[in-house]
Amino acid sequence: MIDNLLNVLQEGKDKILYKIDNDVITYNECYQKVLELSNNLKKQGTSPIIIYGDKDIDTVISILSSIVAHRCYIPIYKCTPLYRIKEIIKETKSNLIITNTEINIDEVECLSVNDINKKYQEVFNYYENDNKYAYIIYTSGSTGKPKGVQISYNNLNNFIKWVTTLNEFKECSKIKVLSQASFSFDLSVMDLYFSIYKNNTIIGISSDDRSNLSKVYEVIKENNINFLIMTPTFIKLLLVGNEFNEEKYPSIKYMFFCGELLEVSTVKKIKERFKNVKVINAYGPTEATCCVSLLEIKDSMLDKEYLPVGNLYTSAVKIDIEDNQIILKGDSVFDGYLGIVSDNYYKENGVNCYKTGDIGLIKEDYLYCTGRLDNQIKYMGYRIELGDIENNLLKIDGIKEAVVICKYKDNSNIVKLIKAYVTISKNINTTYIKKELSKLIPSYMIPKIIEIVDSIPINNNGKYDRKKLSEL
Ligand code: AMP
Repeated sequence: MIDNLLNVLQEGKDKILYKIDNDVITYNECYQKVLELSNNLKKQGTSPIIIYGDKDIDTVISILSSIVAHRCYIPIYKCTPLYRIKEIIKETKSNLIITNTEINIDEVECLSVNDINKKYQEVFNYYENDNKYAYIIYTSGSTGKPKGVQISYNNLNNFIKWVTTLNEFKECSKIKVLSQASFSFDLSVMDLYFSIYKNNTIIGISSDDRSNLSKVYEVIKENNINFLIMTPTFIKLLLVGNEFNEEKYPSIKYMFFCGELLEVSTVKKIKERFKNVKVINAYGPTEATCCVSLLEIKDSMLDKEYLPVGNLYTSAVKIDIEDNQIILKGDSVFDGYLGIVSDNYYKENGVNCYKTGDIGLIKEDYLYCTGRLDNQIKYMGYRIELGDIENNLLKIDGIKEAVVICKYKDNSNIVKLIKAYVTISKNINTTYIKKELSKLIPSYMIPKIIEIVDSIPINNNGKYDRKKLSEL
């Protein structure tokens, strides 16, 4: 499947593949550009390629060209601090950043698509490359270092085969799909590969425009979007506008959710406004290639506390529950983080398995995901390890101890805010701490409140009393 990407692009002919603002590229134009860039990437080297950009057409071309050139790509969100990017370069040994922005890092070539084509067109030497990974997506890591999830061509193939043949999406060819997630989040794997392999048109929204609701409404309306791919956090924002309803947006036929808990109350609100829209709840971690199970939420499911996240009969991998934990086993499951040994992933009779850390249960062949067994949270759709924030706080000169907790919305699993408690060894204030922290971690991970305290309470086991702190 993924090996015939160039053919798929070529066969799409004059259909628009990607549009953002007034920039448009057809399948055939994309084929030409990917052919050229992938050829030049084969001459540049064999290392993984960092793609540092937003939602522009060149980012899409760079991603697809890396796939064709068998150069593993690493999409990096444009707001990632330089410190984290340098850590990623060191770990992946990448020698190339493709970007249109002004970024200068000594150790690597930082080139735009045009620069690469110009520089390598006269080079005739191709490198052999037997790399097995399609991409590496970095997620928050509890030690304070981001974790590189390595997704192989085999993983991606399995995902594409599964998602493009699902009954739920039988009628989803040649439609318009909204792509709002950054390419560095694995939700966008759905935007990109589902759409291309179903011969759809992708309509992108830049990360700046995504936070401007009226712009998002305008893009949906002007482009007659049929299929929205998003987190539940995103639809809650869209639903703030009373005019966001079926009458005003008749083109919307599907709403696809993944990445965090979809609340019953949210679906009820959607169904009040959009009677004919299909609401799809999908589940899966980055480690198992975007999502591994999904189902359409029917009205009859809305009288329960939790919504199902999949149907066992149609999942992409085998799903087991062991000690209340969801375990995924199969071809979509990764075979490890880059450079990190963990007992969360293992092989069983040659099959890749991953202990998700998600609390799950299976009832009448439906899968439910009701929370986490650890300190990983979802905040505004972002995956965050609280330990990541704590360990980065501890890197700041003057901070002695740090504990990060979150506050939940009315006894639910929905995180309302992140708060840090710190003790200090010299006279520093919270403005200084936030400024220093922003050099280390992305802005969405910075605690809304940082409280400097004399001491942090300890529980009977001698550990920080997170429970007590959460209740304060
Ligand atoms: P990510 O790797 O960013 O896609 O995050 C994966 C995690 O998001 C999972 O391990 C779950 O904790 C959570 N998640 C994903 N989909 C759902 C869903 N439909 N319902 C509840 N939690 C979800």
